[in-house]
Amino acid sequence: MSHALTADITARRAEILDRIGAAARVAGRDPAQVRLVAVSKQQPDDRIDAALAAGLRVFGENRVQEAQARWGPRRAGAPDLHLRLIGPLQTNKAEDAVALFDAIDSVDRPKLAHALAAAMAKLGRRPDVLIQVNTGEEPQKAGVAPAEADALIALARDTLNLPVRGVMCIPPVDEEPAMHFALLAKIAARNGLPEISMGMSDDFERAVTFGATMVRVGSALFGARD
Ligand SMILES: *Cc1c(COP(=O)(O)O)cnc(C)c1O
Repeated sequence: MSHALTADITARRAEILDRIGAAARVAGRDPAQVRLVAVSKQQPDDRIDAALAAGLRVFGENRVQEAQARWGPRRAGAPDLHLRLIGPLQTNKAEDAVALFDAIDSVDRPKLAHALAAAMAKLGRRPDVLIQVNTGEEPQKAGVAPAEADALIALARDTLNLPVRGVMCIPPVDEEPAMHFALLAKIAARNGLPEISMGMSDDFERAVTFGATMVRVGSALFGARD
């Protein structure tokens, strides 16, 4: 266990929380309404252990197998761990994901919603679900098209009875994110969904301004990935 790394991550977290707080107050929001999700994907073990020692408990991962390997052995030592899947999920990994994660933030198509409903029924576990919206309508990117978001939310929440809590987006890298954040907030509001996951290392303050209830921060917290 490296005390220097733990001190480093503690300081970075404090700075990020300060910036979240300042952005929230400027927007007239309560800073307590914004949760920090520590994106631990592709980070080396010493930084993961330092983050746990620093008291972080809410982590985001983008691959099921990588998350199993990283968190399986650590779960016993951190019973209050909260793991979120923020990356694309294949239907054949739905059961593994339901078994491991406390929330699945990347539900983006009917077939996956059906697979998760079956996995939850089979395993008797009901992780929270967010619907991922491809706000930039980028062909290579995961997420349901904005025009189809309401229908997918209705299917997942009302027909399949999944615990749908909100929406998530990853704006195009080369665009001003504000209009994407505004669009996602609008989709959440018109569907009566409380959670809005948006904003990463480079734009989390902007996301808070537009109503994010969860920001997903990796490199600004842990340092650059491998
Ligand atoms: C990697 C990743 C992040 C964190 O990115 P940083 O720029 O390192 O903060 C957030 N959200 C998703 C979906 C990611 O894949």
